[in-house]
Amino acid sequence: MGKGAGITCPHCDSRALLRRTKAISTLTREKTYRCNNDNCGHVFVSIEEIQRTVVQPRTLREGVNLPMSKMVLSRIAQCGQ
Ligand SMILES: [Zn+2]
Repeated sequence: MGKGAGITCPHCDSRALLRRTKAISTLTREKTYRCNNDNCGHVFVSIEEIQRTVVQPRTLREGVNLPMSKMVLSRIAQCGQ
């Protein structure tokens, strides 16, 4: 796991490190974190869901229909398309 993969512990505000990732679906991951604070020791699970596309990929997977980011849409509109 990368060193940067962390989240703030909701109980003590210390850094919690990613321990495990489990794919729920193509767009959803379940992530297990453990708080780095030894006096806390909180282990918890978060759900990460991919929300939208910012830059279109060059390889599109059938069945994956993500909305475009609003920021990108307004940029396209400005180009008169
Ligand atoms: Zn904690």
